[in-house]
Amino acid sequence: MLKKIRKINQSKYECLYVSYGSVYDNCTYCGLPATSMDHVPPITRCSDFNKKALDYNNFFKVPSCTQCNSALNDRVLYSIRERLDFIKKYLRKKYKNLLHLPTWEEEDYEDMDLTFAKIIKHKDNQVDILYMRLDHYPEDNILNLKWGTDD
Ligand SMILES: [Zn+2]
Repeated sequence: MLKKIRKINQSKYECLYVSYGSVYDNCTYCGLPATSMDHVPPITRCSDFNKKALDYNNFFKVPSCTQCNSALNDRVLYSIRERLDFIKKYLRKKYKNLLHLPTWEEEDYEDMDLTFAKIIKHKDNQVDILYMRLDHYPEDNILNLKWGTDD
């Protein structure tokens, strides 16, 4: 029975998977290469919607990296914007140590022990990637996708 519901619910997502799936190959939330699709709202939460809402709405499947997808999982976040906000907070918290590292200038490396300089450069690279992920936002047309029942 659960499998049947899941299958019916799965079909609610197909539309946007086709429309957007081939166009965007980067994670909607952080810009890393996408390896999976995130269900908005989470597929396990479709039971939160009544039949009318299910009949009149198409839900979204958006490209996502593995980390964002598993961090979001089936959290009660129903829109792309809510899920995006969650991911930014999640990344900031998870990598707070990286965000507090001092920034090094090229000349600082010259005075460093070679191994230490290598470690620092590696960390700097991780920090750059983290900032890229925090600064990444999907295009407005994706961000503003709505499946509301307001009207
Ligand atoms: Zn991501």
